Amino acid sequence: MNIYNTLSGKIETLSPIGKNKINLFVCGPTVYDDSHIGHARTYVAFDMLVNYLKHSGFDVFYLQNITDIDDKIIKRAKERNIKPKDLAIQFEKEYMADTKTLGIESVKKYARATEHIKEIISQVERLLAKGFAYQSTDGIYYDVSKFKKYGKLSGRTVEGAEDGTSRIDEGVEKKNKADFCLWKFSKEDEPSWPSPWGKGRPGWHIEDTAITEKYFGPQYDIHGGARDLIFPHHEAEISQMEAISGKSPLVKYWVHTGFLTINGQKMSKSLGNFTTIKDFLKENSPQVLRMFIFSSHYRSPIDLKDSSIQEAKANIEKLQDLIYALQKVEVTESLRPSKELGGFDSPFRQLQEKFWQELEDDFNTPKAKAVLFEIVNSVEVKLQQQNLTKEEAKEVLDFLKQINKIFLFLDFKKVKEIKIPDEIKKLTEQREACRKNKDWQGADKLRKQIDEAGWQVEDSSNGPKIKKI
Ligand code: AMP
Repeated sequence: MNIYNTLSGKIETLSPIGKNKINLFVCGPTVYDDSHIGHARTYVAFDMLVNYLKHSGFDVFYLQNITDIDDKIIKRAKERNIKPKDLAIQFEKEYMADTKTLGIESVKKYARATEHIKEIISQVERLLAKGFAYQSTDGIYYDVSKFKKYGKLSGRTVEGAEDGTSRIDEGVEKKNKADFCLWKFSKEDEPSWPSPWGKGRPGWHIEDTAITEKYFGPQYDIHGGARDLIFPHHEAEISQMEAISGKSPLVKYWVHTGFLTINGQKMSKSLGNFTTIKDFLKENSPQVLRMFIFSSHYRSPIDLKDSSIQEAKANIEKLQDLIYALQKVEVTESLRPSKELGGFDSPFRQLQEKFWQELEDDFNTPKAKAVLFEIVNSVEVKLQQQNLTKEEAKEVLDFLKQINKIFLFLDFKKVKEIKIPDEIKKLTEQREACRKNKDWQGADKLRKQIDEAGWQVEDSSNGPKIKKI
């Protein structure tokens, strides 16, 4: 598979460090509030990508951190007069409930920051020992001027690092504007953990490298997140881990999703232009949200418009209707062999291959979607002409089931499977033999027998079709 790597700025062939094994990390949520559908865009996109990698035969270890200690958590907990820990637990539960409703099951391990304090302290100690960090009155800071490759992911320089970005640590005695906090000394009423430098809590960037070092070691395959995290967060991760290990690159492929926007603006808590996942799902199904996300390339922004949601809904309905029609064909007996009908197998196979090729090419889901609907349209034509065979219907259904393991926007449970009993099949065959021998009386008798058992035989130019009455 080919994938765009933010580090090189190029589309590259995916070639994991461990051949068939992929270690993949995506920055998880800061659990201080409900997640919005901007978050869902990123998490669903990675869920689809991981499902696809697994479908392609890779053994993927998908790791996600949970930021359960942070300034925002402390502030929100104070406002609510509850403990930061209780607030974090509450919103971690909400996050897990949301991911479950959205069908995200690809994450193998969720790792809480607060359960990796030992690993975080060890990283800070090593950075201090190697001269990449220094102590000031309010915490331990990373000295970006010491890391020569600072800026290699984002293209920022040490001097220009602070331009136009939020989420850069304030610090009274920072040596460089871009220096970031590794360990914050806690104030009286704040959560804290003992450390060699006094009571404190981890900075935001260090939790990720401490967690990935524990599970993956100093180098791994894929790191993901939305593009707002390229700087300063992911740049900081590289600076920390490569300074500690002396190994480069920390991550072979950096994969970043585009934003979910509203009127061109990023959906975010701070702008107040957000719709929570829960609110969105009051009006729409999870399948509609997944189809909406599938319809755009993961790197492109998606603007949330009512018309796009309606389109996703219509697409889902079209596919569900097709599943229903295909299941009906699957149980409708045609005694003519499928190759006699011809014409469908080969164009469908070519389209199926094209579908997978589009995904191989930097996971191009909008192009794959166009191919999917080419398939849908050609099947519909066949259905209208009543010359889709049982085998062809099965082939299309199998294909839809296969892609649904990756994208999860279809519901096969909604449509009942109807099985034709062997006895009815036998009676139909006997009746067909009678008709061939011009034994009309015998054929009528058998039809009556089939009728009485609750089935109906229709004679068409493609042979008899059996339907449940
Ligand atoms: P946060 O909890 O704000 O750190 O965000 C969690 C994840 O969601 C990160 O990967 C963010 O980059 C991503 N994210 C936040 N807002 C959006 C958005 N509007 N569109 C896409 N991804 C987003």
